[in-house]
Amino acid sequence: MSPAAPVRGESGAERGESLVQRTASKTVLTVCTRLWNQAKRLTTQVRRRSRQIHVRGLAIGGDAPIAVQSMTKTDTRDVAATMTEIRRLHVAGCEIVRLAVPDREAAEALAQIRQRTDLPLVADIHFDYRLALAALEAGVDKLRLNPGNIGGRAKVEEVVRAASARGVPIRIGVNAGSLEKDILERSGRVPEALVESALRHVGILEDCGFADIVVSLKAADVRTMVAAYEMIAERIDYPLHLGVTEAGPTFQGTIKSTVGIGHLLAEGIGDTIRVSLTGDSGEEVRVGLEILYALGLREKRLEIVSCPSCGRCEIDLFTVVREAEKRLQGEDLPAMKVAIMGCVVNGPGESIEADVGLAGGNGLGILFRNGQIVRRVQESEMIDALVEECRAYAAERRQSEHAG
Ligand code: SF4
Repeated sequence: MSPAAPVRGESGAERGESLVQRTASKTVLTVCTRLWNQAKRLTTQVRRRSRQIHVRGLAIGGDAPIAVQSMTKTDTRDVAATMTEIRRLHVAGCEIVRLAVPDREAAEALAQIRQRTDLPLVADIHFDYRLALAALEAGVDKLRLNPGNIGGRAKVEEVVRAASARGVPIRIGVNAGSLEKDILERSGRVPEALVESALRHVGILEDCGFADIVVSLKAADVRTMVAAYEMIAERIDYPLHLGVTEAGPTFQGTIKSTVGIGHLLAEGIGDTIRVSLTGDSGEEVRVGLEILYALGLREKRLEIVSCPSCGRCEIDLFTVVREAEKRLQGEDLPAMKVAIMGCVVNGPGESIEADVGLAGGNGLGILFRNGQIVRRVQESEMIDALVEECRAYAAERRQSEHAG
């Protein structure tokens, strides 16, 4: 006998469905909702709506620009070395800097570091709530800690009270490599486990009346990380800090981070990002910024469109691009697009689309400005001529902005 048709409002249990059937229906419903929301975001390019928090005046979440952050690799106790790295990060475009706080001495060094930079500082704390209190005392702008790991309700409450009093948010940083034992044994290192862990930590802070929260769920495996963020994006509205953890050496880490972070940002998920590389921290920032530029989430000052070169190329394209990039970065130019192409196959088309373009020919180049051919130059004069055209374009832009 077939089951009776479901009545609207009647629960699975009331319809006599088994627990397995009810669980399966719920799972299908959850997956469908997630896929529907993803499809909606992808087709409409809508950013996930998150609440906004502030880290030393820098807004994270809501409609705030996606912030790029990094972490120092120095011993935090070495204030001079740490400050040198922070200054380099600042020049690279870093907007938030995290520092490891392994002991009391490192927490105390934060006070000196605080006095020497205006960049928002995040104290990275594990296990010891006293270090969180000391870091707050030193004037940090955000804590990264997992409240379930700092030793019970009374200690969490003490940290929460001190953070609230200073208006300091807390990032819950779940990492696939350090999941709680019970969750790991029950589920393994799967996206659902990362989400469960994050929700557990969120619950602890919420129970203490604290909602100034950012969440991250990092994994070294890109698919796990992507799925975990997609899931939690449907469950909470706190800002999300994106990252692929332990992404590896610079080349591999750049690819993994770009795929993972870029995928989520393209879906509208993510409010701040950190690229983790076994390499220079400045490079982490540059990669993070390039991800944002590539997705049109931030305007790039100088965008160079250049072809990869091939057997048709008739100029020394690599040298021209390398030298032109170096020269143009030193110029006072507005945000602009410059095309440098190896031959006439795609050269004119890309050059017409760019603000200034150079299409290589047989030992010479055709220069374009605002989509029009302006002149032909010999290969030896190409770089100078390109820089001159960019200056002319910048002057024109300033004049028209001034007149308008
Ligand atoms: S623009 Fe010309 S040189 Fe460059 S890749 Fe295309 S065909 Fe080759």
